[in-house]
Amino acid sequence: MPTGLSFPLLRRRALTVMATALLVCGFGSTGRLYADDLSPAMAGQLAASAQAIAVRLGSVWHSTDQLAGPLLGPLGRMHLARQVGLLEQSLGASRQAGEAWKAVAAHARRLNDTPHLIEALDRSVALALARGDYDDASALASELLERARRLGLMRAHAAAEGYLGVVARRRGNLEQARQHQETALALRRSQGDRAGEAQVLMNLGTVHRDLGDFARALELQIAALELRRTLGSREKLDLSYRNIALLYREIEDTEQAKANFEAALASSEANLDPQSMAGALGSYASFSNDIGDAAAALTMAEQARAIDASIGNRPYVGLENVEIGRALIRLGRDEEARAVLEQALATGRELKHREITGGALLYLGRIALRAGDEPLATRHLDEAIQLLAEAGLKSPLSEAFAAREEIALASGQLAAAVDFAHRRAALREELLGTRAGRQLAALKSRYERADAEQRIRLLSLTNELQSLRLNQQALLRNFGVGAAAVLGVLLLLLLRRYRASHRLNRELQSKNAEISAHEARLEAANAKLSTYAAELYQAAITDPLTGAYNRGHLLRQMEENLRHAQSAGQDLSVLLIDFDHFKAINDEHGHQFGDRVLAGGIQIVRQWLEPGDLVGRYGGEEFVVLMPGRDAAAAAPIAERLRDKVAQGLTALAQSRRALTISIGLASLRASGAATLEDLLGAADVAVYRAKAQGRNRVVPYAA
Ligand code: GH3
Ligand code: MG
Ligand code: MG
Repeated sequence: MPTGLSFPLLRRRALTVMATALLVCGFGSTGRLYADDLSPAMAGQLAASAQAIAVRLGSVWHSTDQLAGPLLGPLGRMHLARQVGLLEQSLGASRQAGEAWKAVAAHARRLNDTPHLIEALDRSVALALARGDYDDASALASELLERARRLGLMRAHAAAEGYLGVVARRRGNLEQARQHQETALALRRSQGDRAGEAQVLMNLGTVHRDLGDFARALELQIAALELRRTLGSREKLDLSYRNIALLYREIEDTEQAKANFEAALASSEANLDPQSMAGALGSYASFSNDIGDAAAALTMAEQARAIDASIGNRPYVGLENVEIGRALIRLGRDEEARAVLEQALATGRELKHREITGGALLYLGRIALRAGDEPLATRHLDEAIQLLAEAGLKSPLSEAFAAREEIALASGQLAAAVDFAHRRAALREELLGTRAGRQLAALKSRYERADAEQRIRLLSLTNELQSLRLNQQALLRNFGVGAAAVLGVLLLLLLRRYRASHRLNRELQSKNAEISAHEARLEAANAKLSTYAAELYQAAITDPLTGAYNRGHLLRQMEENLRHAQSAGQDLSVLLIDFDHFKAINDEHGHQFGDRVLAGGIQIVRQWLEPGDLVGRYGGEEFVVLMPGRDAAAAAPIAERLRDKVAQGLTALAQSRRALTISIGLASLRASGAATLEDLLGAADVAVYRAKAQGRNRVVPYAA
């Protein structure tokens, strides 16, 4: 195509790319503005518009690349692809982003541009993993590893090890996965890359869960969560919570599981990430179904489905439909359940997705059974059993066995019923045996079995002993001393059996100890979690220098108390405390001395506060004391006492030539006629100003 002709077109294309970029940025920032209010419905809309923009951006890129390729040259084309890759990724469009980063990698290889090649490989692996394309991910990660090693790029090296670990785990090579993640962990730690370390800890936790080491898995997930929280990073916090929730779900600690699912949900909402929100809602819904809270399960699965549908994520829409059907059945709404499960069945068959198809058939079977259509129920359940067994989904499989057992019993096929009961029992055993946290349950049940056997054995020994005694009398009577010798031998035998039973007892004890150790570790993990939560909360509401509440918490408390006072028709007072000549104190003695004065002064204020009153840092060297329920007349003497105690107390720090004092402005709701918090604080501010004007170190109540 002659270049002259394509120029106007090119300009138009370039403008479209820029406009799209602006749109994307604008879209991103409006999203952040409303981050606190993200509802599932909005999340769905956001995801749908992001998807539409992503597709459009992809086609604009392809035509721009085709038309302007010769003009831009390989370097220009690489940068164009890179920008598109970044934009697509920020839109959450992993397929389109993957294509763009592949193009970046190809150009970078041709240009021998290592930094861009490394970046493109890194991002491409992550995207391939998100798509579930493990062959691609493995090849790209190996290339990344090889190049990073050769060039001594530690960060990229760590990333590659982490990716290879994820691929290995998903392919079931757990030991290999563990080794990759351990290497990645060591590398991240040696670089002091704490965000990277958190990611690796989380992945390593998942490996340990699959390896069956439940306690270690929980430890690692909690460590990852703590690290992310200390880093103040909200990114992937939801995943950490979700992983912990799933672990608690496995040991059936409903309360902990619930709390962590809630936290996962809240943090995915705050992150404004529709996909992670759908994930959190979906797994919470499935858990709610497990614990029989069908109403909650229904709501959340429907919300997750709405988001997944807007993103066009059909497998997840199918999975949510199965959960919705399951919840509806429990709510007795079989007709609605049937409709939604038929949809899931169609999706599952089309996508050849065994979990969806098997799940849909299982619950359709249950509906048919309830409607008395046993032949249909049998057909559905038999197919469900086959699919669920192939997919290794043990929980629903056991449910399917139970339903089949019910049919067999109802139709008098006892042999078949017993067969299904056996298969279910074997499955349960396996569930207990293999599932990580359930090792504990297995251990308990083994202990109970051994205990019962032991009791039976002791009982039979007592019986034997009793019959021996009877025999002994008979023998003595009948055979005299000779028979007594035979008795002696029998007693010896008995003694040996008693010894064996002692050994058994000791084994039982050691098993008991093992169980307690497991329980103690779990308890410690729980206690750790709640202590951290409490500490974090304290830190989040406290001013570190003075120990008073910080501004955010102070304002919330004031708002709340004001509302309460207004609705209850009570009065309320505030004291605005301002340190006198503080700038001069800083100038003369240094900022650190100033800090000591603030900390010391507020310590005295806290010491002399009345019960029910509180103090917070309003800003700089200004503090507010909130006195709920007190009118101006009651507040004034307290304010005067605070002023006096501070002035006295601070003379102890009297390396200062200057008197260390505070001025206080007092304003109360009724006397000032204030209607809002702003009015009330304004009145206190006016009062402080007057206190300063009248010579400082005094309390001045507000007067209009
Ligand atoms: P006045 O008696 O009229 O209140 O005079 P002032 O000097 O106290 O008032 P001004 O508002 O001019 O200065 C307040 C000073 O407080 C300025 C600021 O540097 C200092 N300040 C604010 N926060 C801190 C802090 O955390 N530590 C220290 N050392 N100084 C602080
Ligand atoms: Mg001031
Ligand atoms: Mg001051």
